[in-house]
Parts: sequence; C-alpha cells; structure tokens
Amino acid sequence: MLNKNLVEVEKNIAAACKRAGRSAEEVTLIAVSKTKPVSDILEIYKEGQRAFGENKVQEMLKKQAASPGDIKWHLIGHLQTNKVKSIIGKTELVHSVDSQRLAETISKEALKQGAVVNCLIEVNVAQEESKFGVSVDETLPLIRAAANLPGLRICGLMTIAPFVENPEENRAVFRQLRQLSVDIAGQNIDNVSMKVLSMGMTNDYIVAVEEGSTHVRVGTAIFGERMYSI
Ligand SMILES: *Cc1c(COP(=O)(O)O)cnc(C)c1O
Repeated sequence: MLNKNLVEVEKNIAAACKRAGRSAEEVTLIAVSKTKPVSDILEIYKEGQRAFGENKVQEMLKKQAASPGDIKWHLIGHLQTNKVKSIIGKTELVHSVDSQRLAETISKEALKQGAVVNCLIEVNVAQEESKFGVSVDETLPLIRAAANLPGLRICGLMTIAPFVENPEENRAVFRQLRQLSVDIAGQNIDNVSMKVLSMGMTNDYIVAVEEGSTHVRVGTAIFGERMYSI
C-alpha cells in the first residue's frame, strides 16, 4: 500500500519537473515518517526510499537506532538548543535553523565532536504567527552572522507554507523563497551555498517543484493520516 503511494508521489514530482523543464534528479523526496512506526519506514526502504524526515529529536534517534544505517535522516522540526548535542553527526540536514543562538549552539557542539552540520535557514515567508522561522528581512543578516561559525554549513533555505485549500495559493510563497535564495546566492558569501530549497508538503509539493524546490517533505501522501495521541 505504502509503495503505491510512494510511486504516485514520485510520478507527480517527475511530471511537475517535466512541466517546469527540470530534471527529476534535482528533487529529493523526503518521506516524513513522524508518528509512524519503523515498520512503515522499512516498507518503503525496501523500494529504495532513503531520505526520511522527522520533526522530533528523540523520535528520530529512536527510529534511527532501529533502522538500516544507510538512511539519510532530515531533521525538519523546530530544534531546541538543549537537544543540539544529541543530533551532531546524526542528520543529513537540519532544516530549521531560525536564530543566531541556535546556529551558535550547533557550531559549538559540532566543534566539540569534530563534525560539520549541514543546515538550512527556516524562513517564515508568509509571516504566520503560529510558525517558527525568521522573516524574509531577517534572513540575510542571520546568514551573514552564521556564515562565520565553524562546524556549521549553510546549504540553503526552508519554508513551511500556510495550510490552504488550493495549493495554487502558495505559489507566490514558493516564488518568494526561491527569489530570496537567488538574491542571497548573488552575495557570494564565504561558506554559504544556496543549493537547497526545502519547500512543499503533501498539500502543495507539486506547485513547490514547479517553483524550484529541491527537497519536498511529504508525509501524509505516503504514510496516510497521522494519529496524534492526546
Ligand atoms: C509534518 C511535516 C511535513 C509533512 O507534512 P504532510 O502534510 O503530512 O506532508 C513537512 N514538513 C514539516 C516541517 C513537517 O513538520
């Protein structure tokens, strides 16, 4: 069942790439497995899926310990500074750096452990109060400050677009993030690359790919609805 969902999402990504004149290899599908059991992860691992996303540190580490070692784990949720030391060396990419303080903590812990942590800056493009992330205006100053920190590499930008009925409503948000990444790339800041654009979830990944996303984070469309215990 999950395999069928995976194939469907891959097909949609390929079709969106074609419409946008992009190669499907430019887009990494991150299967967001939060709240789902390891058995679900293994089911699509068998079909070749290797990138998985989790939003909680403890949950990620627990599943990681019970899963094949060649899975690439993406930390996509808000990261608290007191959890930073446990994720060093455990993630392919941290998608959610949203403050100078967090960047400094990552740098400090990475140095201690002799590692480099690949990071994205989370941008709250739509300025929703309920969401984490820096504003569009704060993004370049944060990147300039974080660029000088050892043990941390800025690889691009991430956004969580608003929940909307019609995904077309988020096209402008994705365009804005892409334009911001182009503008920042044009500044040629040392140690900063803008290769990664993490945008698009179940509801809007097709539009995000049309607008240049390199990493889509898809949960529900692959694993089904999430059940949260209260
Ligand atoms: C849960 C989550 C996703 C996946 O959401 P779906 O709508 O289920 O695809 C993507 N990104 C982040 C940051 C998330 O927390």
